[in-house]
Amino acid sequence: MSFSNDVRNELARVIPDKKCCQMAELSALLAMRADIGFNRDGELTLYTTMENAAQARKVYTLLKETFGLASTVHILQKKRFKKSRIYQVQTHLDNPEGSALLGKLELSEAGIKRQVNWKAIRKNCCKRSFLRGVFVSSGFINRPEGNYHLEIVFNDSRMASDVLRITHKLGLDARLTERKNNLLIYIKESETIVDFLRLVEASNALLEFENVRIIKSMRNQVNRQVNCETANLAKTVEASVRQVEMIKSILARIGIKGIPPHLREIAMLRMDHPDSTLRELGLLLDPPLTKSGVAYRMAKLERIADTIDQSME
Ligand SMILES: [Zn+2]
Repeated sequence: MSFSNDVRNELARVIPDKKCCQMAELSALLAMRADIGFNRDGELTLYTTMENAAQARKVYTLLKETFGLASTVHILQKKRFKKSRIYQVQTHLDNPEGSALLGKLELSEAGIKRQVNWKAIRKNCCKRSFLRGVFVSSGFINRPEGNYHLEIVFNDSRMASDVLRITHKLGLDARLTERKNNLLIYIKESETIVDFLRLVEASNALLEFENVRIIKSMRNQVNRQVNCETANLAKTVEASVRQVEMIKSILARIGIKGIPPHLREIAMLRMDHPDSTLRELGLLLDPPLTKSGVAYRMAKLERIADTIDQSME
C-alpha cells in the first residue's frame, strides 16, 4: 500500500474530541466530496463519495456525532475501472437534523459550495481539523525515502485558494500550482511536511517520516566523508606518480650517486611504495620521520631534478 494511503487511513481514524473541530472537519469533507440531490423517492439527500471504507466511516461518524444524522454506506463499482470500488455515504436531510446541518454549514438544496466557511474555522484547532479533512479527501504524500513531496489536489479554484490561505494562517509554507486541469497545493521542504503532519495529527506517519529523515541525513554525512576520502586518495596517488617520475629522471641522468646520501633512502622507498602516503613513507624510515619531514626531503629531491633540468637546457 502507498504511503499516501497509509497517511490518509491514519487520518481517517482520527476523530477530534471537540465539537467545533468535528464540525470544521465535516465541513471540509463535504466541501471536497459531497453533493446534494434528490433520491428516487424524491427525498433531499447528501451524497458523500469516498475512495475507501475508512474515509467513508469518518464521514458517517462525523455526521452522527455532530448532527445526530443517520446515514447508509453504499459500495459502488466505478464503471470505467472495473476493479475499483467507491464508497458513498447517503444521508437523508428531510428531517430536523438535516435542516440543522444545512443551516449550520450554510449548505443549500442548490448544491454544495466549494469554498471555506471561515466562520466555522475561526479557531486554530478548527483550521487544523479542516486541513485534515481536506487531506483525507485529496491528499498525497511521497514516501520519505524518495523525494520530499506533499500535495492536495483540487478541481475548484476557489476551494484551492481558500485552503492555501488556511495553510498560510497555520504557518505552513505551501504553494499553489496548476497541473493539467487541476490545481494543487504542494510542499517540498521536509521540515514543512513534518509540520503539516504534526498539525493534522498524523502521529505514525510523522514518526516514520522523522526516522527516515534522520537515516537519510546520516547517510549523506557518510557519503560526504567517503567522497572527501576518495578525493584525498586521488591527490596522494597523483602526487606519488609525479614524485616517482621525478626520481626516475634523476636516476636516469645522474644515477644514485648524484643523490645526497640522506635523500637516497626516501627516494628508493618512494619508488618501492608508490601507493603510500608521505606519512606512511615516513614510518618506513629508520628512525621514522614525520609527514612534514618526508615532504621536506621530497622538496629537496624536486630541487635537484629542477637543477638538472636547468643545466641541460
Ligand atoms: Zn476546534
